[in-house]
Amino acid sequence: MKKNMLFGSTLSHSLSPEIHKYIYNIIGYESIYELAEFRENELQKYIEKLSKFDINANVTIPYKERVLPYLDFLDEKAQRIGSVNTIKSENGKLFGYNTDYYGLSETLKHYNISGKSFLVLGYGGAAKTVIQYLIDNNAERVFVATRKKELHKKLIDNEQTKLYENTQAKSYENTQIKECNINEKIEFISYSDIDNISGFGIINTTPIGMHPNIRNCPVSPYVFKNFKLALDLIYMPIRTSFLICAENDGLTVINGLKMLVYQAIKAIEIWTGIEMTISQKNDIFAHFDSKFSVISKIKGDSDLTKDPIFIIGLPGSGKTTLGKSLSKKLDFNFIDLDDYIESKTNMKISEIFLLGESEFRKVEKLSLQEASMAKNTVISTGGGVVVTPENRELLSKKSNVIYIDRSCEDILSDVNLQDRPLLKDNPNRIYEIYKERKDYYSSLCNYKIVNDGSINDLVENALKVLASKEEDY
Ligand code: NAP
Repeated sequence: MKKNMLFGSTLSHSLSPEIHKYIYNIIGYESIYELAEFRENELQKYIEKLSKFDINANVTIPYKERVLPYLDFLDEKAQRIGSVNTIKSENGKLFGYNTDYYGLSETLKHYNISGKSFLVLGYGGAAKTVIQYLIDNNAERVFVATRKKELHKKLIDNEQTKLYENTQAKSYENTQIKECNINEKIEFISYSDIDNISGFGIINTTPIGMHPNIRNCPVSPYVFKNFKLALDLIYMPIRTSFLICAENDGLTVINGLKMLVYQAIKAIEIWTGIEMTISQKNDIFAHFDSKFSVISKIKGDSDLTKDPIFIIGLPGSGKTTLGKSLSKKLDFNFIDLDDYIESKTNMKISEIFLLGESEFRKVEKLSLQEASMAKNTVISTGGGVVVTPENRELLSKKSNVIYIDRSCEDILSDVNLQDRPLLKDNPNRIYEIYKERKDYYSSLCNYKIVNDGSINDLVENALKVLASKEEDY
């Protein structure tokens, strides 16, 4: 099976594996997508792996420019921008592409750029793609707000030349770099000069406002009145403070999700040679647009972040699995109440149960009280948490309690009961336990989800119900 990788230094929150897996399924491409998180001194080793084993790769921060010297061929856009986010490996040769450019062009294709001025915030890797796109589409002028105005001014004169000195790469398409009077069109400015700038679009290419620092905005709210369109390359959250301020001032706003999804689509087209139809691409984007809007909405909901999200349900109903997955998706902390109890008491749950169930319930009650003070956290509780009146009182005052309803038959057929103190000697007790607790679960929960399918379905359902909260009120 063909292997593709993502190169980067910090990848744990990357959405790319999910996007790739989804698209591979749609087009019937049998391949795996692996994260390769490494330090710079390992870059050469990883690059050599690509050509040796015919592995393709996506490249992200901080290697988009650093991979250039190792590639055999660059396409025209990658050459002009000076960064590569997609590498195709074929017969021992490595071909470099910049599909961020394609993602951006899909994002902005309905807007006429020609003859208009733009303010780009930040001058990192993504800014260079944005600037190249604006110049290619005949923007009148591009102001670039940077913290290092003088440095960039000096560097830009030699930038394209330097790229060629530093790399052996040549264009496989035999394309020439298009001459463009880039220097005349770009003006580096300091953030203190921004108030004097006006134009059609303001584009944030800095990471300011990205989750978890969602309240931050790279510019003051007074700036937006000078523009008509605001684009933020950030896609998590979907509505950054930057976009919210812009929208309040009546600007058209666009987030970075389309760019993210379409750069992945293009990378896969390059690797496979399969061209997706426009309607396939639209459907892929619509899927992620709806999905990530949901996650973003949950993260922006103050009720959901000030109290933890509690998960209740029978032993084996999927509370820990859901809790782990949900916390990862939301970038929340995760507490498994049983693990919390074990680390607090330095004893195994089974050892505490040997002292009697009531001893366990006492420790459980204290642990639940402590854990429930956490913010931005998902807590998966033990199945019996609802039998203690004080716990019920605590949970009844919370507004984010999810009950996973799973049939006893599914639990018995799927779960290793040896780890469940109340069930290991008598599995059929699950039916009694269900009878005892089902009314508690139902009355204490704000959301009930059924676990009768895959874990993916369970997570999707949990996200949907949490995001639907506002509409329920
Ligand atoms: P980068 O190379 O690190 O560049 C970010 C630039 O932002 C820096 O060079 C810096 O510019 C500015 N900056 C960083 N921290 C700042 C701070 N605290 N205050 C003011 N300015 C600051 O990163 P990148 O690859 O360009 O990515 C930038 C953002 O775009 C990230 O949020 C990334 O997720 C997003 N992105 C999205 C997509 C997509 O598909 N939607 C694709 C690529 C990137 P100066 O030093 O010039 O001030």
